[in-house]
Amino acid sequence: MKSKEMINFTVGPVQSSEAVRSIGAEQVPYFRTQEFSQLMLENESLIKKFAKATDDSRVAFITGSGSAGMETAIMNTLTSKDKALVINGGSFGARFVELLDLHEIPYSEIKLEPGKSLKKEHLTPYEGQGYTTFLVNKHETSTGVHYDMQLISEFCKRNNLFLIVDCISTFLADPFNMAELAADVMITGSQKALACPPGIAVMCLSPNAISRIESTKCKCQYLDLKLALKNAERGQTPWTPAVSILRQINVRLKEIDNNGGVEAEIERTKNLADYFRNKIKELPFEIYSESLSNAVTPLHPTTASAYDIFLKIKDEYDMWICPNGGNMKDTVFRVGHIGALTTNDYDKLISAFNDLKNKGFI
Ligand SMILES: *Cc1c(COP(=O)(O)O)cnc(C)c1O
Repeated sequence: MKSKEMINFTVGPVQSSEAVRSIGAEQVPYFRTQEFSQLMLENESLIKKFAKATDDSRVAFITGSGSAGMETAIMNTLTSKDKALVINGGSFGARFVELLDLHEIPYSEIKLEPGKSLKKEHLTPYEGQGYTTFLVNKHETSTGVHYDMQLISEFCKRNNLFLIVDCISTFLADPFNMAELAADVMITGSQKALACPPGIAVMCLSPNAISRIESTKCKCQYLDLKLALKNAERGQTPWTPAVSILRQINVRLKEIDNNGGVEAEIERTKNLADYFRNKIKELPFEIYSESLSNAVTPLHPTTASAYDIFLKIKDEYDMWICPNGGNMKDTVFRVGHIGALTTNDYDKLISAFNDLKNKGFI
């Protein structure tokens, strides 16, 4: 299976910096030490800084992919006494819905057409209806729709709702201010804009979330945030974590901090997205989403199957773009802008698309 010589434009795992990659080649150090605790406390403080969380927020690092963070949030902060409102605009929204079902949390879902943004009128019928919590994937990565968090935050503040935000593909790619939005749980994953290998879910928790965790019985020992938070006080985890990935996250967070912080990282990602979007205007692709994140451009090809384009680009040009699944397999593919990519990489992709166009394939 090829890896090294491919250019990766997917939405995760994405390309890592040289510094992050070199840690992957090192021996895994023993971790019940002062040194590792120090690194974990540094990780916590940088995540809080980049999420713009209040000082009294806490961070948990769960060994698992982003979905483990979604399920951990539900199992530790919600009960059958809650009444949840969930946005379902694609496969990640559907995952929240399935988790609420599985864990028997009463809910209503706001189902959006694929590619469509959330509008005020979608929320109006749910004002003052006794809801207690709101769940949203800030960026529904499957369709590339980036929701209006201002609208959601105002709705939640008015209705006093506990707010769980899956920021898995948007953290470090688009602005997010946890304190201002009064979000209670922010979830991200190591293999998206953190640009590390998959294996760690990061959860930033507001004081309100922490008090919910303290009063909720989690029916899973491994994902019990009470244990995670107790251990995190001294920079540790209850179980052996993905040690190397936590070290890679540390290098990456410091890299961002030293290069102008989260704003500069968002700007860098935005510039790549703009560069790509400006160069595809002559190609037979339509932008699929009403409201874009900097993390990805979802495209509907008007002259060929999206999946066939994905295969061609992979097999004949040594690049990965991101295919879609389910009933969007042939109609949508996505091009990511997160990870260690440059404008030069996009030039190669554009020239491959142009080549396919000249050959009459698209
Ligand atoms: C990638 C992603 C996830 C989690 O996926 P994993 O494969 O479990 O890491 C969840 N939500 C969103 C919005 C994502 O982009």
